[in-house]
Amino acid sequence: MKDRYLDFVNSPFGTSIARSLGLPRPSMLRRLRPGEPEFHGLAAIGAGPSPALFDALMNVLAALGMTGVAHASAAGWLPVAARHGAMSGRFEPRPSGAHDNDRVQALIFDATGIEDSGQLHAPYAFFHDALRSLARSGRIVVLGRPPGTCASVAAATAQHALEGLVRSLGKEARNGITSNLLRVAEGADLEAALRFFLSPRSAYVSGQVVTLETSSNPSVAPVDWSQPLAGRRALVTGAARGIGAAIAAVLAGHGAIVTGLDVEAARDALDQTMLSIEDASPSGGAHAALIEDIAAPEAPEAIAAALRAAGGIDIVVHNAGITRDKTIARMSAELWDSVIDINLLAQARIDEALLAGNVLQHGGRIVAVSSISGIAGNRGQTNYATSKAGVIGRVHALAPHLRARGITINAVAPGFIETHMTARMPFGVREAGRRLNSMGQGGLPVDVAETVAWLASPGSAGITGNVVRVCGQSLIGA
Ligand code: NAD
Repeated sequence: MKDRYLDFVNSPFGTSIARSLGLPRPSMLRRLRPGEPEFHGLAAIGAGPSPALFDALMNVLAALGMTGVAHASAAGWLPVAARHGAMSGRFEPRPSGAHDNDRVQALIFDATGIEDSGQLHAPYAFFHDALRSLARSGRIVVLGRPPGTCASVAAATAQHALEGLVRSLGKEARNGITSNLLRVAEGADLEAALRFFLSPRSAYVSGQVVTLETSSNPSVAPVDWSQPLAGRRALVTGAARGIGAAIAAVLAGHGAIVTGLDVEAARDALDQTMLSIEDASPSGGAHAALIEDIAAPEAPEAIAAALRAAGGIDIVVHNAGITRDKTIARMSAELWDSVIDINLLAQARIDEALLAGNVLQHGGRIVAVSSISGIAGNRGQTNYATSKAGVIGRVHALAPHLRARGITINAVAPGFIETHMTARMPFGVREAGRRLNSMGQGGLPVDVAETVAWLASPGSAGITGNVVRVCGQSLIGA
């Protein structure tokens, strides 16, 4: 559904009206467009004491074609910066009205060496100086350590404190700027996550904390970063429309061979989706449509058999889901049971069938679609929120069991996404959902799809048991 307010306040006439009336003016988010570079410009880098990821960071920036500028606050660090050919300096706030290309595209702070809360002055100095130099739709990434791996209480405390910093920066920055914290365990691979969080692909992901661990099945850098899923086979449930159709299209665009699954009633829509993917897809015509009701008792075995016959599967995306809203006092048992069954139990049954027969291969990826309702709860959605919180619980509980097989399992939790589901909401609820987040607008299905594609990529071997919200830093459940 179109967001007419967003379009209006970003038109020449609407901009001046909004300015004179003091109305909020959410920015048009920069998303990836064909022909436009994914990465460009300057990335300003700050650091606390002994930043451990500086070299890795500079190497990734060089690979992206971005220029690293070491901030003067990272004084002890400047010789290393010079060795990498990085410029150094201070960041004067750019005058309002300065062109976005004159601004810094990303602020990256390496906080891995911070071992005491007294050292938190370093990120203050960096962001105080540099935040106003950041372009619209710019990126803030803070690199820290998982508090659980810290050697002292003081270090774990300081590392945890970074969460508040990052989330607040996301709320202060506005203008489509995102702010996220990567907790990087010693030896963990950083590249795929850094690429995602610096890219327009993460346009609607802000205020998130993601843990990167070392993996028994180390990340393999793709030959071509524009096709990280080349040769991988993916199953996407609920692929006929909405978020599922976008996930199928984005995975295919990243090179995967996709099996899109949906119910009989959505057969035509599913065929349409798979056809349009085939036309646009680099892997050509190998995609398939599979008609199954995931709630049917025979579905797990039927899905496993179909995928086994196609040579196994590397990526499973549990996207199919339903809402049947009523307050609990008015909700029939049928409404309760159907939502728990389709949204939660069916995922478990399908995984069981795919894991039992090794249909999901070693090094596989499971991504389950949850919802911020599962984090915050929602009036009239006790069944839905219970099912979606269960999805998160399952991801946490299953991740340790799958590590030995090199299989990761993560959840994405969308906030307000412009789809059929949200178009049906009453006007007031819809507007509140759209505006009450740091971006001042709803997300698009492609925002969820890009997040799924990143979690599903070979480079994300060290990410498991995480929940990534795709909600523009929604105030709901924050
Ligand atoms: P949608 O209703 O547009 O699409 C859901 C798809 O799942 C449909 O094609 C439907 O036919 C299919 N499906 C439903 N039951 C099925 C079953 N038993 N077997 C097979 N397929 C089935 O929904 P959407 O908005 O695209 O949402 C996709 C997922 O994202 C859902 O899990 C939803 O809960 C979640 N989500 C959506 C939003 C949002 O704002 N739209 C927010 C948070 C979470």
